[in-house]
Formats: sequence, structure tokens, C-alpha cells
Amino acid sequence: MSNLPSIRLGTLFGIPVEINVSWFVIFLLVAVTLTTGYFPQQLEGRSNLTYAIMGIVTTLAFFASVLIHEFAHSLVARAGGLRIARVTLFIFGGVSQMEDEPRRPGLEFVMASAGPGTSILLAAMFFLAGEALFLFQAEASIIVVLDYLAVINLSVGVFNLLPGFPLDGGRILRAVLWAITGDMLKATRWASRMGQLIGVALISVAVIGVLLYQTFDLIWFAVMGWFISGLATTAYQQQVVKSRLAQVSVAQIMSAPAVVVSADLTLEDMAHSYFLGGRHSRYPVVADGTVVGLVDIKAAQKVRRDDWPVTTVADVAYKDLSCVYVGPETTVDSILPQLDPMRAGVVFVVDGGRLSGIVSRADVIRLISDDGDSTP
Ligand SMILES: [Zn+2]
Repeated sequence: MSNLPSIRLGTLFGIPVEINVSWFVIFLLVAVTLTTGYFPQQLEGRSNLTYAIMGIVTTLAFFASVLIHEFAHSLVARAGGLRIARVTLFIFGGVSQMEDEPRRPGLEFVMASAGPGTSILLAAMFFLAGEALFLFQAEASIIVVLDYLAVINLSVGVFNLLPGFPLDGGRILRAVLWAITGDMLKATRWASRMGQLIGVALISVAVIGVLLYQTFDLIWFAVMGWFISGLATTAYQQQVVKSRLAQVSVAQIMSAPAVVVSADLTLEDMAHSYFLGGRHSRYPVVADGTVVGLVDIKAAQKVRRDDWPVTTVADVAYKDLSCVYVGPETTVDSILPQLDPMRAGVVFVVDGGRLSGIVSRADVIRLISDDGDSTP
């Protein structure tokens, strides 16, 4: 799903809002079902145009409700100090993409509860508005729409409270287990198992529904169930890796002593003595004992081959080294953003002003795969 493109709608409270292309499928499905099925059944004798307007207005209001649900999560998370990359609407609803995970169970509990709490609150508001308009004998089509929005928001709230990771209820369960045991990883494992169980239960309901009652509406349950159990499994695996990396310092995995190149070396010599047969792909450039840049084969390739003997490493090196220096005690999980190939790709470990080593992506990958092999 995430490999489908998303369209940026704008920003709300400083958080970018996106719609994934898959969302249009569900939008059409809901609008058509409401227009041609649900509303004509609930309220007879209206024109097709009326049903179509009701269908579209209701679908838009429903997705606005989903957006409000996501923003409840996001704003609470941000108030708790977490960074929110974006909010995306997609085929199964909404998702708030956080750049980091909560570090305390209390914050996770409040953050996870905020979404379903908001949905249930919205349900109550739509219900009360419908009741009030009914008392004033307002147009029935408006009341039918409000009632539907009350029911759908209540369903969203209750469904998300199912206690399996990655649903909100699963995050609430994880927060409670985490607070009790003090072990985030164990709490994630149990909450993820519950997520897998709920996924299997949803699939079973769909299979039974189709086999015994020929109710094909329930196939949606199977799709949801498959999706949830898949996410539960990956979420746990990611947590395992992250927790491992949080226990290892950069000093433990860095390549030391750092292999450096001198700033006045020519690209010709650099290519022969470092890139051919060298075990690194990026090197710190040093002049008078201090690091002045970073060089890799791509930087050299920007220069014509004929000019390599007369061009120095310093001429082509990347000189923006901001956020590339860390202390030896820094944990590996916190340097992952810098190791992104689109950014620096390496981190310099500096101890008392001296360059003591380098950590590259390869060092982290080696650490992760070693962990996999060394289990007794
Ligand atoms: Zn939620």
C-alpha cells in the first residue's frame, strides 16, 4: 500500500496532510454504496440527485472524521515531544507517521487513547445533532446522514479499541503491559501476538460468513485481518532490531582507527590506493590533523578522468559536515537518520576532540546480521 504514491493536500497545525492513491478506491466504494444502497433503503421517495448529494456529503464528512481522529493522535504526540512527519489517509483509514516512538508508557497510553476517544466523542455529537433536528422536525435526509455519521464514528472508535498491535487498542495494551513489566520489548511482543490473533479472528469471521451465510460484505473483514496480522508481525520485528541497536554504542561498532585521506592527495592516487581494493566507500578528508570533508567515488566521478592527476581530494570533497559528529557513547539507534544514503551516509565518532573512528551503514548491517547468527 505504501508503495502507491500520495498526494499532498496541504498542512494543518503545521503537519503535512496526504492522501494515498488507494484512498480513492474506498472513497468511491463508500459513496456508491451509500448513494445506491443504504440511503434509498433508509429513506424512500427521494430523487437520485438527493441520494447522490447525501452519499458524497456523508463520505466527505466520514473522512473528515478520520482525519480528526488522526490529528487527535498527532497533536497529543507532539505535545508529548514527538515529531510527526505527516498524516496520511489511505484505503484502511488514516495513519500518523511519527519520526520517533514514545519513550514512556504514559505518553503512549494517552496518545493511543486520543484517537478512539475522539471518534466516540464525534459519534455522540452527530447523534445529539440528529436528535435535536428530529425534535425540530428538520428535513429527514439531514437526520439520516447525521445518524449514519454517528454509527460509523462509533464503529471506528470501537474497532480501533480492539486490543491488538498496531491498532490503537493494541498500543493501549502495550502501554499498560509496558508500565507493569517495565519491558517495552516484551510488551510489544504480547500486543503484536494479540494483533495476529485479531487478524486471524477477522479472517475466520469472513470465511464463516461467506461459507454459511453467503454474506460477501464480510470479505472486507478478511482483507482487514490479513493487513492487521501482517503489520503486527513487522512491527514486532522492527522493535526487536531497534531495541538491539539502542543497547550498542557507536564506539563498539566503529571502524577504528579511522582510515583518512590527506586533503592534498590527487584523485588519481586516491583511486589507486583507496577505492581499488579498499574496504570503505567513503573517507574523511584530513588537513593539518582536522577533518575538513568527506570524499567518495561519486565525488571523484564528477571530475573528468583526464583531470584526476591534477585535481586534489579537497577540491571535490563534501564540506557540509553538520550532524556527522557524535560522541563514543551515542547509541546506534539514534544515528540511523544520518546513515541514510541520501544524507551523509557515515558518522564520525569524536572523542575529546580527536577522530577515533567511523560508523557506516555497513557496520550497522553487520551488527544486525551478527545478532541473528549468534543466537544460541
Ligand atoms: Zn487511531
